[in-house]
Amino acid sequence: MYDALVIGGGVSGLYAAYLLQQAGLSVEVLEARDRLGGRLHTVYTPDGQPVDLGGQWVGPQHMRVLRWVEAHRIPLHRTHTAGKNLLILPGGKVRFYTGTIPRLPVGALLDLGWGLERFKRMAKRVSATHPWHLTRPAWDEETLAAWMRRALRSELARQTFSVGLATVLGCEPEEVSLWHALFYVRSAGGLEALIETEGGAQERKFTQGAASLVASIAEKVPYRLSAPVRRVEWGPAGVHVWVASGEKLTARSLIVAIPPALQLAIEWDPPLPPSYAQLAQRMPMGSVTKVVAVYDRPYWREKGLSGHVLRLEGALRITFDTSPPDGSYGQITGFAVGHLARSLLSLPADERLAFFRQEVDKLFGVPSRWLYQKTWADEPYSGGCYVGFFGPGGWRYVGRALREPLPPLYWSGTERAHTWMGYIEGAFAAAEAAVRSLDVHVSP
Ligand code: FAD
Repeated sequence: MYDALVIGGGVSGLYAAYLLQQAGLSVEVLEARDRLGGRLHTVYTPDGQPVDLGGQWVGPQHMRVLRWVEAHRIPLHRTHTAGKNLLILPGGKVRFYTGTIPRLPVGALLDLGWGLERFKRMAKRVSATHPWHLTRPAWDEETLAAWMRRALRSELARQTFSVGLATVLGCEPEEVSLWHALFYVRSAGGLEALIETEGGAQERKFTQGAASLVASIAEKVPYRLSAPVRRVEWGPAGVHVWVASGEKLTARSLIVAIPPALQLAIEWDPPLPPSYAQLAQRMPMGSVTKVVAVYDRPYWREKGLSGHVLRLEGALRITFDTSPPDGSYGQITGFAVGHLARSLLSLPADERLAFFRQEVDKLFGVPSRWLYQKTWADEPYSGGCYVGFFGPGGWRYVGRALREPLPPLYWSGTERAHTWMGYIEGAFAAAEAAVRSLDVHVSP
């Protein structure tokens, strides 16, 4: 009999187990894959350079992660931003700019600026702690795309807003509730914190890959790999948990640290109450393919370019320079999001890679030494990425079930976070909240 079991060996489940263990409780993490880390996944080039196919950046607002990183001396470095960014307009026309907001033609720029200001003001009206209290119900009755069509007159401004928000949310504006998009901004403390590199969520990167963060928690907690949970029997006395091998484990409490959509793959006995069951159906995962190209050197810097490209057409819409701090080799990270990522799902992985090779070569001119693509929808134990999201009505009807414990069941994972939902920081914050709801003290 454990005091607690944890489903999911991503950072949220691992950190929850760490906190419980610190409080003297017996705990074990059950992880479905043959590796830990979930949506954090570092692979290595043939000459040993880390390539993050999942999460990689940490922002200055990510207090919990930074505290952990500092205490465990995990190296981070600043994302390279010096040089000119490229905006590629429909039809291929190129404009150079610096900073975050691309240099659109003046009318479109004014329209975009006004739209962003309105959006930021609206986000302040959403509660991060109780987003199911809809102070403006109409905002959860429409999609972000519907609002954009009304709020932005210029097609170019709409396209730019759309690429920016889709890249942040990991889904299309026509899929997501306006209220959810506003909540996402609110939970990060503001739009700038989400979209900016310097001073925002993309500011720093794990020098040795995000695996260094995962390993630093994993070495402190007991876990089992290749142990997908298939069935949970739960009641006032605790839980019985069956893993795929048929083994049964027993605990007083269970922390469920997986995205809500993946709860559907577990048999719950008794079944979860209707709003919890509906939650799993109403919070799909986003669709993102991450592409990483490795070069002999960051040669774009020699031409005065930053490696940051924003493209209003094409599959890869946004890229960043993710080279190491000493520039000893070059690395570009790009993202394909939403319909574009999904349209490639039927292709085998090698054809997808060939497709992205063409895209990257078109943007950067020089062939990369190594190229990686990771389509997270391929992964049954993620189902997509970066994070689950709500369409219209989600927060209103099942939002509360996202966070409210059902003792002996407690919820963790970045989707449950009131702060930085979708990010590593959110995964840490949700773990803290889950552990607190078990009446375990967590130091602030
Ligand atoms: P997960 O990492 O999804 O962990 C859940 C775990 O549960 C997984 O290991 C899974 O295998 C396991 N599991 C699922 N079902 C079962 C089952 N039935 N039984 C047992 N185990 C199960 N965040 C940032 O902060 N910065 C970034 O730069 C960033 N970029 C990203 C880029 C990409 C491409 C992706 C994919 C994500 C990115 N994120 C980023 C998001 C970040 O990676 C996640 O928010 C975070 O890793 C989520 O952690 P988690 O523990 O909540 O969930």
